[in-house]
Amino acid sequence: MAEKISAVKGMNDILPASVPRTDKLPDSALWSGFESIVRRLLSRYGYQYIVTPVVEPTSLFVRGLGEVTDIVEKEMYSFTDAMNGDRLTLRPEATAGIVRAMVEHNALYNGPLRLWTLGPMFRHERPQKGRYRQFHQLDVEALGFAGPDVDAELILMVRALWRELGLEEGRHVRLELNSLGQPHERHAHREALIRYFEANAAQLDADAQRRLHTNPLRILDTKNPAMQALVEGAPQLMDFLGAESRDHFDAVRSVLDAAGLAYRVNPRLVRGMDYYNLTVFEWVTDQLGSQGTVCGGGRYDGLIGQIGGKPAPAVGFGLGVERLLLLIQELQLPVADPAPVAYAIVPSPALLPQAMVTLEALRAAGVSVVQHAGGGSMKSQFKKADASGARFALVFGEEEVAQGQVALKALRDAQRPQVLRPLQAPAEWAAELLDA
Ligand code: ATP
Ligand code: MG
Repeated sequence: MAEKISAVKGMNDILPASVPRTDKLPDSALWSGFESIVRRLLSRYGYQYIVTPVVEPTSLFVRGLGEVTDIVEKEMYSFTDAMNGDRLTLRPEATAGIVRAMVEHNALYNGPLRLWTLGPMFRHERPQKGRYRQFHQLDVEALGFAGPDVDAELILMVRALWRELGLEEGRHVRLELNSLGQPHERHAHREALIRYFEANAAQLDADAQRRLHTNPLRILDTKNPAMQALVEGAPQLMDFLGAESRDHFDAVRSVLDAAGLAYRVNPRLVRGMDYYNLTVFEWVTDQLGSQGTVCGGGRYDGLIGQIGGKPAPAVGFGLGVERLLLLIQELQLPVADPAPVAYAIVPSPALLPQAMVTLEALRAAGVSVVQHAGGGSMKSQFKKADASGARFALVFGEEEVAQGQVALKALRDAQRPQVLRPLQAPAEWAAELLDA
């Protein structure tokens, strides 16, 4: 046998629950259950689906995310296209690509757009629980909207998603909120920060010293415990915001307050990308160790112009699907796609044509039914039926079929008597299976 080939480190297969695996990653039924909930919810808010390429020109991210961000400095999978020498990058996030597409297609010409996508992102990080090199984001963007109402809409929509999934806000996930103001306000704050850190230069670690003049704001995001006290005492951006920025923030807050959504204003919430302004937010959980941010987003009014479009405001968020599904799995919330309703047992191959015609009609009536394939004894077929998680076995035995009937046997309810139903009219008894 040829040598086996393994997946790239930090990149995972999403597998059905029936495939045993040693890591504890969520199975594909949880993924597809989540995706169905997302689809339904987003369409209720009028967000439209979009898909953009996984590979983009490297310059898109360098320009869009900012040269001295973690992602651009050290996390991007960039390579040269051997055919033509183009510099390309596997997308590390979705916003820049969506904005590129909207600019390229003049999409905002007819007014603002609400969009969403879900797909793989790539970052060269140290793999650990909740942190992978290929991971997935649900990404939602509202382009062309300036008002704080849409910022609040996005946040409330995420809360609605938590509710659909069975997560409790405050207990399982909580909201942190901040305002980054406008570029000139950030500039004044930045100057004050540099002065403050320069005055305390001895306490800066190597990372912070490097960032002092390139991106001092990122020093506030440090995870180094030795620098926490210094960072606590640093000048706060909130004190540099002008009236307009404060009004925007207050307007977002007043919608959240009216909707009864509790949050913490976290002045140290800065987010990883350079493109954010005004509202930024994160949904965090305490139940996933240090990978606690499940969703992060905010306003990025400068990005569309920076990528070559006619300047227009925008706001969006990215939600880490693996992290969220790990949380859902840990809490054992019933999100997974349901098992099939029925499993068809056909002991004699000669009866397959009749059985399969009935199964087709059942499926057309909305019943999910798995057909046993590959023969085997009645006993072994029943074993498979049980393992499938189905609630009913449909037994196409010789005697039953000879009488034009199929036996319906409940697999999870010992009290329920076995009954016979007509092969010819499955639509008439489909409801019996669906309602059980
Ligand atoms: P972190 O601080 O954990 O690195 P981030 O600020 O880099 O997160 P964003 O760029 O805001 O993350 O991406 C949005 C969401 O995508 C995150 O909140 C997280 O849930 C998820 N995410 C980011 N990086 C990874 C990764 N390497 N593996 C799995 N999920 C990730
Ligand atoms: Mg990161």
